[in-house]
Amino acid sequence: MKTLIAKLRQEHHLDAEEYKALLLCRDVDALIYLQEQAREVALGQFGNRVFIRGLIEISNRCRNNCYYCGIRKENKNVARYELTQEDILNCCRKGYALGFRTFVLQGGETPAAKDDGMVETVSSIRQEFPDCAITLSLGEKSREAYERFFRAGANRYLLRHETHNEEHYRHLHPSGMSIKQRLQCLTWLKEIGYQTGTGIMVGSPGQSVDHLVEDILFIERFQPEMIGIGPFIPHHDTPFATAPPGSMEMTLKLLSIFRLMHPGVLLPSTTALATLSPDGRERGILAGANVVMPNLSPRNQREKYTLYDNKASLGAEAAEGLQQLEEKLAAIGYRISKERGDYNSG
Ligand code: SAM
Repeated sequence: MKTLIAKLRQEHHLDAEEYKALLLCRDVDALIYLQEQAREVALGQFGNRVFIRGLIEISNRCRNNCYYCGIRKENKNVARYELTQEDILNCCRKGYALGFRTFVLQGGETPAAKDDGMVETVSSIRQEFPDCAITLSLGEKSREAYERFFRAGANRYLLRHETHNEEHYRHLHPSGMSIKQRLQCLTWLKEIGYQTGTGIMVGSPGQSVDHLVEDILFIERFQPEMIGIGPFIPHHDTPFATAPPGSMEMTLKLLSIFRLMHPGVLLPSTTALATLSPDGRERGILAGANVVMPNLSPRNQREKYTLYDNKASLGAEAAEGLQQLEEKLAAIGYRISKERGDYNSG
């Protein structure tokens, strides 16, 4: 197994059977080796710096009904909210003062009628914070909308493909949503010039190791600048309420594989990982991740953006808890970087 891991580090590629063997591997020594290799590569690329992104959850209104998501349209038990442009700018101001130089605006998927407002919001952030990166994560939009957001000043876009397998995609999403459309959106985003992020939930209901291999091979081909992966965690008001959560071990394994496959990629240690276990964030960094995304949303709205149960948004997961995050990272030999942290293709 170590030969395979060394090969992945050297060649950044394995074939499907080899990836599968790695995903199924339970040999503790080999898994420690995998993490060590991934960590070495991340240290070579970024030193011991971890980039921070201020996550602003701009709205929990969503027109979609993804079976796994707590803010799905049909969940009538969520109090809906939508931040105004001024609310969002205030979050950015607070974040800027704390040292954030990337703002991630994430929200449920809204109809095209809301696109004009989004263009205005992005323009005003761009004007007030010319030295900051603006990342959007607003789901599937028309090519024209993506172009308008880009021209207004957005630099990066996160859109997880969730699963590359068509049947599995249908198991996770109602009809009306398709992997074909999602991949089309991802292609547009890349063509337009966004630093583009995709990714999956680990352990989503119905996911098999073969699906994961398909996801890895897709990501290898697509070469995103960012890869967002975190464990699936059930939400009590969704059709998958009783499904088991994804595993820490598999998530860490995938983080390491992605680091070896794509050395320079921006790879967050996600909130879902920190929710799964109190040391999840640090374990993600030690497995090769190099980004964390503390929550910059207004405190009184955070609990309404419940994608899954018990979602962490306080302490080291909160923008105002940066000191705590700093200490936790220092304990494992890392430090926060307050740079913009763009993808470095060189
Ligand atoms: N609407 C945008 C979109 O679809 O990309 C952005 C918001 S969406 C809620 C952000 C991500 O949350 C999704 O890509 C999904 O992977 C993740 N997510 C949703 N429900 C989850 C759950 N139950 N467990 C873990 N992650 C979840």
